[in-house]
Amino acid sequence: MSLPDHAGAWMEALLGAPVPSEPRSTCADCAMCRPASPATRAFSPSVKCCTFQPSLPNFLVGAALLDERTSERARAALRGRIAEGRGATPLYLERTPDEERDQELGKAEYGQDPTLLCDYYEEGLCGMWAHREAVCSTFWCLSDRRAVGMRFHEATKRLLGRVEEMLAIWNVRALLPTRADALVHLDDRPRRYALGELPGARTGGSIGLPTRRRIWGPWMGREEAFYRACAERVAPLSWADVRTIGGDALTAAIAEVQAARARLDAPLPTVLCAGNVDRITLGAEAGLLTERVPDDPLAVPNAVADALPLFDGRPLAEVLAAVPAIGPWLQRLVDQEVLGVPGEGDVAPRDRPTGTLGPDDVLAVFRSFRGSTIDHRLDVSPEGEVTWALVCGGREVRVEDSEHIRLLQFIERGARGFRAGDTAGLLGGGWPAAKELLQDLVDEGFLQRVAEPCAPQPPR
Ligand code: SF4
Ligand code: SF4
Repeated sequence: MSLPDHAGAWMEALLGAPVPSEPRSTCADCAMCRPASPATRAFSPSVKCCTFQPSLPNFLVGAALLDERTSERARAALRGRIAEGRGATPLYLERTPDEERDQELGKAEYGQDPTLLCDYYEEGLCGMWAHREAVCSTFWCLSDRRAVGMRFHEATKRLLGRVEEMLAIWNVRALLPTRADALVHLDDRPRRYALGELPGARTGGSIGLPTRRRIWGPWMGREEAFYRACAERVAPLSWADVRTIGGDALTAAIAEVQAARARLDAPLPTVLCAGNVDRITLGAEAGLLTERVPDDPLAVPNAVADALPLFDGRPLAEVLAAVPAIGPWLQRLVDQEVLGVPGEGDVAPRDRPTGTLGPDDVLAVFRSFRGSTIDHRLDVSPEGEVTWALVCGGREVRVEDSEHIRLLQFIERGARGFRAGDTAGLLGGGWPAAKELLQDLVDEGFLQRVAEPCAPQPPR
């Protein structure tokens, strides 16, 4: 069982089987302290992946305090934070706004910076392992099922996070009904102290006394007892109870987990296409990386990596007849999301229009046969220089001048399909300049030629 007891039992009831463990994430001998990819910076053994301060829902704080397995250090840290009002609200014992900011700023130092270390970490171990919250309990650096396994864990994280929100609110409404309006948004989302959503409690490490009095009401000074009472209310809940409490708010997240779980058992499709991949050298083999698993290269024989262009939309049987050696690698290539199925706006290479790019041709952003999302980033240097980047499917386009920024913004808006000639007016050089740039983006695998724009799809 890879999840803490409470979450593991709920997920088992939902899925009809335990969530599998992840033996490649060798926490006792941390796998990320000796990563497979030479491009990945090794984690520090003294902090591993715990450079993260979790926000614990009220019932997990109480459960950790009640459990004798909780380490003395973790217990002292929980009590210290509660006594000092450091992120202690009736909903959560959460990150302070300062910790939230440090965490954002310290993302580059993830797995490195001891100043970001979790308060509940003790000599290489989690001091409250049995009561980890959704982020910690679904984090695995390496998955047996690689990118597809990661998608399942991410879906589980979103569901458990939503369950934690709903149960924390359910406890507050029962135990502290007069303060519920101050603590819960109208859309049933918790007001997060870490995000500055509690009025009057926006800065500093500890919540000020007036705000503490206002949010804790009759439980002021008895916060630990409140958290324990929350744990006692949640401990007997079955998944059916949780489902009833969560209601419609859980429906979408449950469907996402079920779909991600079904994908783990899905048979191989009859047609597979190769998306964008970063190829590195791993000794005598090739390492294949995709964006969901940037630190976990799939090591394959070079002959297998060389054969990927054959996955252009022809039947799988034809590819296997041409390169029989690829057969044993198929499932792992699918798991790594090197191979995927055409659809969701992505057209198999051999079905794409060819010839010279003309103004009436339709282009779309290439999702790499894995439903990659399109993200943009705006960076401003200390000198005030603006860089705009568009990222999708393991490819990034970065521009600096205003007319190219406008062009990328146009492409982002028309990601599912736009007429190539409609970009001509955005560049000083007109259609010749636009054509050259668009053709480069096609050649780099950022754009693809399609017959017609794709209808919007639900998120994967
Ligand atoms: S999950 Fe964390 S502790 Fe476990 S092996 Fe991965 S990085 Fe190391
Ligand atoms: S709660 Fe445990 S697993 Fe999560 S960051 Fe802290 S020490 Fe690590």
